[in-house]
Amino acid sequence: MSGYGMDFLVILLCFGLAGGIVGRIKGSSFTVWFLISFCVPFIGLATAVLYRFENQELRRQCPDCQRVLKLHDAVCMHCGAELEFPDVAISPTATVVARKPTA
Ligand SMILES: [Zn+2]
Repeated sequence: MSGYGMDFLVILLCFGLAGGIVGRIKGSSFTVWFLISFCVPFIGLATAVLYRFENQELRRQCPDCQRVLKLHDAVCMHCGAELEFPDVAISPTATVVARKPTA
């Protein structure tokens, strides 16, 4: 029996914690970044460090459910509403819907 497996698990947990803390500081989810860093230690932690600061992003409000979203979001993650970029004129729904493959 060897303790290498346990050692490796401890190292992974450390990476997970570090990634989670970095993610949390940047205004993202601790759990998400913990899992990412735990599953892919080096890449996950590096990604968490390089990840842009979410709490410094420009934000906007969904016209349908009033939830605050990222400015660059094209679709509301909460209610699924399609979003126009704020300074773009609102076009008729018919022209916006599209996106269906022409059969
Ligand atoms: Zn919404």
